[in-house]
Amino acid sequence: MTAGRIPHIVTPPPGPRSREILERQAKVLYPGLAGGLGPFVIRRKEGYAVEDIDGNVYLDMISGMASVPLGAAHAGITEVAVEVLRRYGVEDTHFYSHEYLLPLAEKLLAIAPGNLSRVDIALNGTEAVETAVRFMRRATGRPIVVGFMGGYHGEAGTAGAIGAETSDLSFGYRALMPGFVHVPYPNPYRTPFTARPGGTGDGTVDFIRDHLLFHAVDPREVAGVVIEPVLGSGGCVAPPDAFWPALVKLCRDFDWLLCADEVKTGFGRTGHMFAVERWGVEPDLMALGKAMGGGVMPIGAVLGTDHSMGFDDVSTGSTWSWLAAACAAALETIRIFETEPILENVRELDRTARRALARLAERFECIGDVRTVGCFIAVEFVKDRATKERDPELQEAVAWECLRRGLLGDSSTTSYNLQPSLVTPVEVLEGAIAILDESVAAALAALGR
Ligand code: PMP
Repeated sequence: MTAGRIPHIVTPPPGPRSREILERQAKVLYPGLAGGLGPFVIRRKEGYAVEDIDGNVYLDMISGMASVPLGAAHAGITEVAVEVLRRYGVEDTHFYSHEYLLPLAEKLLAIAPGNLSRVDIALNGTEAVETAVRFMRRATGRPIVVGFMGGYHGEAGTAGAIGAETSDLSFGYRALMPGFVHVPYPNPYRTPFTARPGGTGDGTVDFIRDHLLFHAVDPREVAGVVIEPVLGSGGCVAPPDAFWPALVKLCRDFDWLLCADEVKTGFGRTGHMFAVERWGVEPDLMALGKAMGGGVMPIGAVLGTDHSMGFDDVSTGSTWSWLAAACAAALETIRIFETEPILENVRELDRTARRALARLAERFECIGDVRTVGCFIAVEFVKDRATKERDPELQEAVAWECLRRGLLGDSSTTSYNLQPSLVTPVEVLEGAIAILDESVAAALAALGR
């Protein structure tokens, strides 16, 4: 497939075969699922190409929502996983160990930042986050967890309640989950806060100290914070440098635990193995998932210090976590990171994206902000650069124009995002941004602007 042209659209999506299946799916699937599916049905994936059943080939700039770090169906990782699956089949790793459990746990601790010394197994990112929160409450004996508006941590009860990416994601359940408070994510483009003189040096942490802890919650009831080091689903937002030391001090002052949700940022996406390394932050807990399985097998993990995980009375996990084959895939993924220049390529892609997006933002007044952190790339559309009023209509139109041209990006709640796999060649990313450029012009024309 990658030998041909990418992207290559032979029939505008949805093609006839996709359309037929999508219509039948709509009759039987949960409408909330069916309505959110893209307008084609996938036949296969390879590298950075996605082919649909009508023969269209798309350029993949989503990478399985950042769970495919090294290109689709990576041959070496797949081979390892299949071999181990044949040999071990399925067993519940909560009941019996296997030969990959110890090597993976030791390897994770060896590559993890700071004093993380314990590992618990998880099936995916959601479960890792859920488990981490239980550990936070158990380790501190305190009920409340601070989350950040704009953050996303999964759909299940606890993970969904910490996150607050958009209000509609919490429809029907967050109100039923006590024990969480939210503050705006330290978003340099949109923060409502400025640091006050004599404060912490960071407006968001000033707000927590001066307002949240003064009016809303006693710090002695807070177990800690859960934070994405860089917002992923919330649109590639990196906090300002001053935020991290202020947050770490806040946690120290009140004996809070700092849990980094590295489910999306972990395993190289930001140009570091883990995003907290960028700021030298040493979390007490870290949740992992997505890319950990090399884009081949589902797997997640919680890593923690002795203090935050040194007890045995919190029941965790689920049947399918850390299957031998998933562990083998994770080990092979880490081996590739250690032997191939993956992070170097991410940094090269970062530089490429920065240059190209700066030109894009110069060309189009409707672009309020462009953001790049490694292989997280976001473009935020606004109606007016001065007021920063969001323009979801334009963003949707741009996403559609991209799709018609064969570019698969992630139209998230706040921005249009490109999330290439970490091994994407530079010229392929340049090609994707050229399509985006063309698509913005086409979307503006289609909306009569
Ligand atoms: N945390 C973050 C930061 C995520 O981006 C996600 C998924 N997008 C999750 C947790 C949940 O992971 P999963 O959907 O794999 O369970």
